[in-house]
Amino acid sequence: MSFPVTQANPSRISQIDFNQLPFGRIFSDHMFVADYQHGAWVNARIIPFSPISLSPAGAVLHYGQAIFEGMKVYKNEAGELLYFRPYENYKRMQSSAIRLCMPPVPEEIFMDGLKELIKLDQAWIPTGKGRSLYIRPVYFATDDVIGVKASENYTFIIFTSPTGPYYTDELKVEIEKTYSRSNRGGTGYAKAAGNYGGALYPTRLAQQRGYNQVIWTDAATHSRVEESGTMNLMFVINNVLVTPSLSPSKLAGITRDSVIRLAQHWGMKVEERDVYVEEILTALENGTLQEAFGTGTAANIAPISVIGHEGKDFRIPEAGPETFAGKALHFLDELKAGKIEDPFGWVAKL
Ligand SMILES: *Cc1c(COP(=O)(O)O)cnc(C)c1O
Repeated sequence: MSFPVTQANPSRISQIDFNQLPFGRIFSDHMFVADYQHGAWVNARIIPFSPISLSPAGAVLHYGQAIFEGMKVYKNEAGELLYFRPYENYKRMQSSAIRLCMPPVPEEIFMDGLKELIKLDQAWIPTGKGRSLYIRPVYFATDDVIGVKASENYTFIIFTSPTGPYYTDELKVEIEKTYSRSNRGGTGYAKAAGNYGGALYPTRLAQQRGYNQVIWTDAATHSRVEESGTMNLMFVINNVLVTPSLSPSKLAGITRDSVIRLAQHWGMKVEERDVYVEEILTALENGTLQEAFGTGTAANIAPISVIGHEGKDFRIPEAGPETFAGKALHFLDELKAGKIEDPFGWVAKL
């Protein structure tokens, strides 16, 4: 697929301090844009990163048909561009689109747009430990008609942001038993914008109590842990990797899948099952809970230092390089940056 490219002139790259890369605040020179208008994909193009215009009646503003993805690209020492499991993001975006009643984005639009955009802005890919170019595809409804119905017009955009580590301080999480992010039959498995809007208030309440994030529990009984923020949750209990099994209320993380397969590859026992709040509290109290961490593209593998529950804090031993989380983080970092053999076929050059 070919499409026009309008170069940013001049490039903004010389104004960026690549030693300071707060997550999600700095954007590369260009963006890929494609429009869906009355049944056809039109106007695929690469243009300078810039604001977009939208009618105040724009459907996304009122009825929330908006989904996104998050992925990363790395540069190896030979200067080649290495993507981590990009087709998984493409497939998940399709399943999110179906749930939000949006037309699927054709594979060549997603993949060719991605490839050309990253080639053009490859100077923005930071190298070094924990650094990469974060890629944000976003897809939303643009009909300028008020009335609750699936939009007939959409815009798909890919833009990128050079990033360093996501959580730089201790990660403290609180088990949430009042609010829910999703429910059976809801949109929890989709990367739908509204899921995050609804999560902000309970997260703020937890932050006012001194935590960074909440651990969501199942909406019906609040007795099973689900996930945390934009991360899936994992525990090491008695040397077994324990993680909540996938369900329609949880986002099926690509990092989650990668960590599970890595653990199995290393011969570790893995249990994907219901994980109860009570068993986590018991394991924290009797010292059998060795590790707790979140997994996600943005946060990578983020060790949890404190789990709070009903006013009581439990501290988890520090995740040194010899822990499972420490080893998995190191392995995946090296794999994604092309420093070691890839036994899984996860690293793609596109
Ligand atoms: C994106 C996301 C994750 C992590 O998914 P990855 O594919 O590993 O990046 C987990 N939970 C939620 C709610 C998310 O939005």
